[in-house]
Amino acid sequence: MCRQKGTKPFYSEDVFGPDLNDEATSGQVSQERCPMTTPIIVGNWKMNGLSADSADRVKALLAALASQPVAGTEIVICPPFTQLALLAPQLKGSPVALGAQNCHMDEKGAHTGDIAPGMLTDLGVTHVILGHSERRRDHGEVDETVREKAVAAAKAGLTPIVCIGETEDQRQSGEAQDTIGWQIKGSLPDGFTGVVAYEPVWAIGTGLAATPEDIQTTVAFIRAELVRQFGESGKTLRILYGGSVDAGNAASILAIPEVAGALVGGASLKPDAFLSIIRAVPAH
Ligand code: PEP
Repeated sequence: MCRQKGTKPFYSEDVFGPDLNDEATSGQVSQERCPMTTPIIVGNWKMNGLSADSADRVKALLAALASQPVAGTEIVICPPFTQLALLAPQLKGSPVALGAQNCHMDEKGAHTGDIAPGMLTDLGVTHVILGHSERRRDHGEVDETVREKAVAAAKAGLTPIVCIGETEDQRQSGEAQDTIGWQIKGSLPDGFTGVVAYEPVWAIGTGLAATPEDIQTTVAFIRAELVRQFGESGKTLRILYGGSVDAGNAASILAIPEVAGALVGGASLKPDAFLSIIRAVPAH
């Protein structure tokens, strides 16, 4: 599942120094560190999926991956909470991991309607999306909330996928980088080892993905901020792009050296489109 030595890194070695995960430079082969360099495609089903269509969608995905396997890419689907227990047995032992779309920051207690990180791992969930702009918008989640959730998720053994990104207004007023910079500072806890998803809010669900040039510029800015905040470990944190990724634009987005994968909403509900995105990850 890990990127092979000598293949394209997700960051520019010219700017950020050698790939610390590269066996040639680190002098060691570490299974634990491999995930930091593995491309990752995450499907966010949002509030979509009843029992029958969810099972069918997963069946189609697994059948296609069985007949034409994909090596070296981490694949995650994040259905609604209600489908997690149903899909966990279907995904067990498959190349597709199970993720959730949110979790609470407490381990248990008086939080009606919430789900604790340990309840997710109990079902076999391995990843969790945190701070998605729809949760920031619909549930008033702020950076501090997201950071607390990221700590709790990691403590429970989940991989947090923390979303950041500017709104259309912030973009128009030239505040995109400031916004993202503050979100990084506020949402990512010390020692963060999860995944960062850059999702310009104006690109989510609109069919208007950011251009590869804009993604490249913003992701380079995010990388610099991560290095500033985390030092060495900031060089290898995976940065995903999300926002209207589809079968048609995936290849050009995933070809950007700093982009380690994609967070996919609408297209993840269509097995064929999601598979095309997975197969658009450059050879590694
Ligand atoms: C998302 O839900 O995170 C997302 C990026 O949605 P879409 O791909 O539909 O824009």
